[in-house]
Amino acid sequence: MKILIADDDPVSTRVLAHQLEKWQHVVTTTTNGIEALDAFKNYNFDVVITDWMMPAMSGPELCAAIREEEKSGELASFIILLTSRGSNEDFALALEAGANDFATKPFAPFVLQARLANAARILQLQTELHRKRQEADKLACTDYLTQLRNRRAMWQNLGMDFERMSREQRPLSALVIDIDFFKKINDAHGHQTGDYVLQAVADCLTNSVRSGDYVGRWGGEEFLAVLPGADIIQSAEVAERCRHHLESLRIKVDSGEVIRLSASFGVAAIDGAGREDCNALIEQADQALYWAKDAGRNRVKIYVPGVGPRRNMRKAK
Ligand code: GH3
Ligand code: MG
Ligand code: MG
Repeated sequence: MKILIADDDPVSTRVLAHQLEKWQHVVTTTTNGIEALDAFKNYNFDVVITDWMMPAMSGPELCAAIREEEKSGELASFIILLTSRGSNEDFALALEAGANDFATKPFAPFVLQARLANAARILQLQTELHRKRQEADKLACTDYLTQLRNRRAMWQNLGMDFERMSREQRPLSALVIDIDFFKKINDAHGHQTGDYVLQAVADCLTNSVRSGDYVGRWGGEEFLAVLPGADIIQSAEVAERCRHHLESLRIKVDSGEVIRLSASFGVAAIDGAGREDCNALIEQADQALYWAKDAGRNRVKIYVPGVGPRRNMRKAK
């Protein structure tokens, strides 16, 4: 493990460092709390072993400062307070300050070894938990079929980019994309082939937008693309490029048949002046999509207030 020692007594530091290195740990030594905190901010340490009484910053103060520092991250170090003080009150105070463990000087090597084994076990559990949480977070944000961001993740990302672009007074665009007559593909080729087609569409759209822009699955055969920084003209161009790529797709399926498809696009943008909100942006892109469907499908429409058919006028299929 990577271990940081904070102790103003050079002799006990040397003895401790020597012992730890014998056990194959990588050791950094510091002579007071401030130096230790500096080192801690610059490197990742698994374990901190700190003396209690030190000039400028005591062991418990160092513990508290390290815990404060760790608030912004997700993984915590294991802190052992090493001291000649050994009362119950001291023990309670050390834990209160954020230490995980407490050992009295002079330490018996086998006791320290046992405490480090305990630290390693807890750090290992912590890492495992962190990894599982990241996996769960990813699963909760990913559409199972296409591996794109799901609707929930798109709302989250859109919200963040919306805030960011408003702050920077830059535009942001949304493209709502709906495959035309997708039901017919399912009906003609089966649901499984329909799924395969959705994956192909997802890949095609992902490859058609710039990095920084992103596509998610918005609903069954509907996708959403978010283009931070793009105004309505730029996003209409991107939509037209995506539309053309989809129209040019030739999806070969298991039966040997080749499926072709098209999609309709609704585009809306905020100008960065901060008057609009996310819901209104999506609602506007949706309105434009209905217009694209109504106008014959396989086309891009941009939202213009008061222009185009209202949603309830959408053509019956
Ligand atoms: P329009 O051009 O008006 O959009 O017609 P459409 O047929 O694409 O639209 P409609 O809403 O009538 O049908 C959408 C179809 O998409 C119906 C639904 O079964 C299918 N669908 C939704 N999710 C999935 C999915 O995950 N897999 C498959 N295979 N089909 C899906
Ligand atoms: Mg459709
Ligand atoms: Mg649809």
